[in-house]
Amino acid sequence: MEETTVVIVGAGFAGLTAARVLRSRGVDVLMLESANRVGGRAFTVRSNAGSPVDLGGQWIGHDHARVTALAAEFGMSLFRTASPGTPLVVDGGRRIGSAPLTMLSTGLALLRLEVLSRLPFRTRSDRVTVAGWVARIPGSRTRRFLDVILSEALACDLDQVSVGALMTGLRSAGGLRVMLGTAGGAQESLISGGAGGLADALATELGPLVQLNRPATTMTRTADGVLVGTPSGPVRAIRAIVTAPPLIAAAIRHEPPLPAERLLVQTGTVMGTIYKAVAVYDTPFWRENGYSGEVLDLSGPVPVAFDISPADGPGHLCVLVPGRSARALDRLSAEDRRNTVLGSLADHFGARTMNPLSWHEKSWHHDPHVGGGYSALPMPGALHALAHAGRPTGPIHWAGTETAPRWTGYLEGAVRSGERAAGEILAEIGTPRDREPQPEVG
Ligand SMILES: Cc1cc2nc3c(=O)[nH]c(=O)nc-3n(C[C@H](O)[C@H](O)[C@H](O)COP(=O)(O)OP(=O)(O)OC[C@H]3O[C@@H](n4cnc5c(N)ncnc54)[C@H](O)[C@@H]3O)c2cc1C
Repeated sequence: MEETTVVIVGAGFAGLTAARVLRSRGVDVLMLESANRVGGRAFTVRSNAGSPVDLGGQWIGHDHARVTALAAEFGMSLFRTASPGTPLVVDGGRRIGSAPLTMLSTGLALLRLEVLSRLPFRTRSDRVTVAGWVARIPGSRTRRFLDVILSEALACDLDQVSVGALMTGLRSAGGLRVMLGTAGGAQESLISGGAGGLADALATELGPLVQLNRPATTMTRTADGVLVGTPSGPVRAIRAIVTAPPLIAAAIRHEPPLPAERLLVQTGTVMGTIYKAVAVYDTPFWRENGYSGEVLDLSGPVPVAFDISPADGPGHLCVLVPGRSARALDRLSAEDRRNTVLGSLADHFGARTMNPLSWHEKSWHHDPHVGGGYSALPMPGALHALAHAGRPTGPIHWAGTETAPRWTGYLEGAVRSGERAAGEILAEIGTPRDREPQPEVG
């Protein structure tokens, strides 16, 4: 039987970070990854222009210190998200930048959310859905504006989460301004080489310790550790770290069954629904006409678009389509979906938009290994589902962005959770050096 000290389930940022920390202290690890690649919700492909294209997590926030340090260790620099020109706010095909009342009332509603997030927690806030809260705001256009901004921030339909869950998310990210912001906010920078490129570099360093196409299917907690079942034979270890997203981790059969508090992490959460596409052009041509590339469309099939072009590189336009808009795109053929998305962008930036050098898309809610994105969210009435998500169950430690109190849902949260779980295990079992017999003194 295969034996190791720590078996790690999942080679996303949480798992890869945990493995790296443990290896640096001389602890034996083995990583089981169910997919045929590492990175999980971070996934970088190459465009026809040769530039890296992030189809999953991409932005690094202003104070995402751990993931920034990790990128630096692998010689990968960050570049600032371009934000020249003004964003386009569009409704019914018309720009509404000059609709001061809508802008003002939307700004006031967002300010109210920011203030609410700083007040002490109220149980009632977990019974009101964000959709219910938005429905009480006067002005149909203001409500649609809020729907676009908040669905985008959460990557779900607003009746799937409570105001309490939104508040928790806001606090975890340091407030609404930080969550939605570029400079000084969560969208400040991108990684040269892509977030998936950084995951690949981490995995390369670990070498054969990372085993692809090898899912953990069962976990048996024993007197001296844990036995993990896989299709190619079991692995025995002293400790395990599970980093799979909660709903996906629910497919692993546990013996003895998991305690109720742990099951709530799985049954009380919903995974976000998100479609992402990136169109690559020889240059960011929209800037020539003074556009930032950023769009908020209150009534079109593509609610938001961003310019994520590499510095001095080709032009990258990215769309992130959450919830019901994503499901509407799912119902189209690949060709119709591409025409719909590019057609929507062409309405803003002109016919040139229809002919990218390359086109990349991914519906994360159809990915069987992660089940959606950006992350798992507590369902209304189950706000505490994730409150203790990082608490160990005997020899099993839990990591993954959902277990991070700060920056939950982000790459930074994933890295911090991996470091935390590795630290817990080191505190429990020590390093091989700690276990060596110490010479007697005197
Ligand atoms: C479209 C999209 C955009 C995003 N944008 C951003 C952004 O701009 N900035 C940001 O900070 N974050 C962003 N995120 C979120 C970020 O990508 C995630 O928070 C982060 O990647 C999660 O890492 P993780 O290691 O916790 O989980 P994951 O990356 O989900 O890793 C879990 C791993 O476990 C594996 N696995 C599952 N089940 C098993 C099993 N039974 N056995 C073995 N392996 C298993 C999976 O295949 C996966 O590789 C985005 C996410 C998406 C989807």
